[in-house]
Amino acid sequence: VTKLPKIDGGRLWSAHMAMAEVGRIPGDGVCRLAASDEDKAGRDLFARWCEEAGLSIRVDKIGNMFARRAGRDESKPPVLIGSHLDSQPTGGRFDGAFGVLSGLEIVRTLNDAGIETEIPIEIVNWTNEEGCRFQPSSLGAEVAAGHISLEVGFGAKDEHGVSLAEALDRIGYRGDAEIAFTASAYLEGHIEQGPILEEHGDAVGIVYGAMGINAYTVTLIGREAHTGTTPVTHRKDALYGAAQCIAKVRALAMEFEPNGRATVARLLIEPNARSVVASKAVFTTDCRHQSPAELDEMSRRLKQIVEEVSAECGLGYTMTPYWTVPPRTFDSDCVEALQEAASALGLKHRRMVSGAGHDAIPVSAVVPTAMIFVPSKDGVSHHVSEYTAPEHLEAGCNVLFQAAVKLAGLATSARHHA
Ligand SMILES: [Zn+2]
Repeated sequence: VTKLPKIDGGRLWSAHMAMAEVGRIPGDGVCRLAASDEDKAGRDLFARWCEEAGLSIRVDKIGNMFARRAGRDESKPPVLIGSHLDSQPTGGRFDGAFGVLSGLEIVRTLNDAGIETEIPIEIVNWTNEEGCRFQPSSLGAEVAAGHISLEVGFGAKDEHGVSLAEALDRIGYRGDAEIAFTASAYLEGHIEQGPILEEHGDAVGIVYGAMGINAYTVTLIGREAHTGTTPVTHRKDALYGAAQCIAKVRALAMEFEPNGRATVARLLIEPNARSVVASKAVFTTDCRHQSPAELDEMSRRLKQIVEEVSAECGLGYTMTPYWTVPPRTFDSDCVEALQEAASALGLKHRRMVSGAGHDAIPVSAVVPTAMIFVPSKDGVSHHVSEYTAPEHLEAGCNVLFQAAVKLAGLATSARHHA
């Protein structure tokens, strides 16, 4: 077994800090909205670094960038490593950038050590992951995976009516490569955006899947009544019903920790007047779980909560599905490669699922995929104060490096003659 070198943690940190200068905003944050001038500058910098590393770059029609390091066997689909360089309007320096810049650091390390891999390695920067300028999120990856047509992707409009196609044209990143994406494996490194790794003192999360989501809109129908003259026993109080539901949904969530979530996040009431019992309450609720069976069970219990509370409070109700995302289980070989790498490097790690959306989720439908998470200080993301320590970026990148080389294989003279 060849002993692999380690990645250069200082160089990886410098790349993050240089990228963070692009679209820099007060408080150490960045604003690189998809297909904006700042996104173009980030893409240009990434492209320059890739060219300096001897990579060949292609940009597909939806603006996804692929930077390729040739392998000994060019007939095989590459091992793909990446994430996204776009950000939220008041985003941080690490969300997305970590996955792309890790890919770059891996290639630089291979170059320095003169290591040839059996199959090619490509770094990818997916278009419009954040979904704040153009909906939906992970649009570039969704189009590449064939879930959304190119026409629909092009037609996505920002709040000023500018389409993604126009925006990409304007910055020169509507590429000419076909949407014909293939890879042997896809590895994505990302900040956790949650508190779990930090809380447990883990260096790396080995992400084996992503939560599915069942989201609903619930309407409770009661009756307006005077708050002074109507005894409680004679009321049909939609707000009281909503309060009962909120408390029970929270209890449900507690029961399904740590891999399940259930939430009521939005509530509107009518008439919302000081002296009138509420006649109507509309709230959103969703449950999330990585296991399809558990997700079904959570949905069943959510419906039961709404039904029982409505009956107890004398309310009518409707419960309408709003959004459904199936749970994902990532590829076991890719997960294994990442976990073995973390063990071999002596890093404290844990297996976990993603509760957030990532490019890896659509990609996992068409290519063997897995992710790692690195710790987020105080669990903060999508905020200028987002922070991951240099040693955590370095550790995560080493895990990606070892796993990527394992999946790509080392080109050996023995194989040449085999
Ligand atoms: Zn991200």
